[in-house]
Amino acid sequence: MKVPFLDLHAQYDPIIDDIREAIEQVIQTHQYIMGPQVEQLEAAIADYCGCRYAVGCSSGTDALLLALSAHDIGKGDEVITTSFTFFATASTIYRVGAKPVFVDIDPRTFNISPAEIEKAITPKTKAIIAVHLFGQPADMDSIMKIAKKHDLIVIEDNAQGIGAKYGDKYAGTIGDVGTLSFFPAKNLGAMGDAGMCLTNNEELAGKLKLLRVHGENPKYYHNWVGFNSRLDTLQAAILLVKLKHLDRWNKMRQENAAYYNEHLADIEEIELPYVKPGITPIYNQYTLLAEDRDALLEYLRAKDIGCAVYYPQPLHLQPCFALLNYKAGDLPVCEEISARVISIPIYSELSQAQLDYVIAEIRSFYQKERT
Ligand SMILES: *Cc1c(COP(=O)(O)O)cnc(C)c1O
Repeated sequence: MKVPFLDLHAQYDPIIDDIREAIEQVIQTHQYIMGPQVEQLEAAIADYCGCRYAVGCSSGTDALLLALSAHDIGKGDEVITTSFTFFATASTIYRVGAKPVFVDIDPRTFNISPAEIEKAITPKTKAIIAVHLFGQPADMDSIMKIAKKHDLIVIEDNAQGIGAKYGDKYAGTIGDVGTLSFFPAKNLGAMGDAGMCLTNNEELAGKLKLLRVHGENPKYYHNWVGFNSRLDTLQAAILLVKLKHLDRWNKMRQENAAYYNEHLADIEEIELPYVKPGITPIYNQYTLLAEDRDALLEYLRAKDIGCAVYYPQPLHLQPCFALLNYKAGDLPVCEEISARVISIPIYSELSQAQLDYVIAEIRSFYQKERT
């Protein structure tokens, strides 16, 4: 038996004819830049997430860059974020010239700790980037309360959480702006790079639309130094086909997670993902805390089970951020968690036999260890 970490063949096989037709329609018009499918996708995603505006762009990373730039965040500003996230959450803060201020996480949800945000606020703090890690929304009530009190901008890095809910709201629509990534491994993935910004603020949406095309308005006249960060028409056409399946795919991930939860619960050496009441996660990852993590990883890979560690090194300890002067021990929770996490296959198309195989092999690894 083989269980890949993600199986794009299984995802695409049932819909490939619809995808080919959507691509063919773009070819017939040759409108590769800002063709009508881009606006159609923006409208469809805004409608899906229940927000007023969606602005397509070229990646989840660029969505963060645009969100920061649209708020004029740059030199002299500090942006508070989690150290336990994908690199782009912080690299974009650095890229616009601002200082990433890393804070620790909640040990159960792995999301940014509101209490730690409050401690890190200085007169230079301009914004907070909350990440909905692995598809579970962060504690947005507390974060919005802090932001209001200190007059801070809130950006939700929702690259991993499209379709997840915080109460009755969709992740990415609660702060000033939410960002999405359509990287192929996300729950809604393109056939290449693509991203989007979500907002309810009309003025901000307008600025994001200008910034993604060099800040020009009208053409060849520039009020801002923007980017070339458009969403490809081809990717928009593909995503329009796939968006129709997103709820079903997310539900299948939730069912896989429920099955793991039930059948892994008795293994003492692992802790199952914790979900806060009122939250509907969409399991971009299903991440365990495991004793002897590295040995388990090696064992499962030898059994042809794809696994991954998100993330092995928190961002405050990355060599490129040495100039920020963090040291080991500064953020003890995320440092400990990064040594214990392991993500196991959770993609929608996993078969019953594959789920059972993963469960059996985790069980047998710890049984062998105990004897
Ligand atoms: C994937 C991801 C990004 C970056 O998205 P890209 O589309 O790959 O640029 C940013 N933040 C988080 C948390 C991500 O998981």
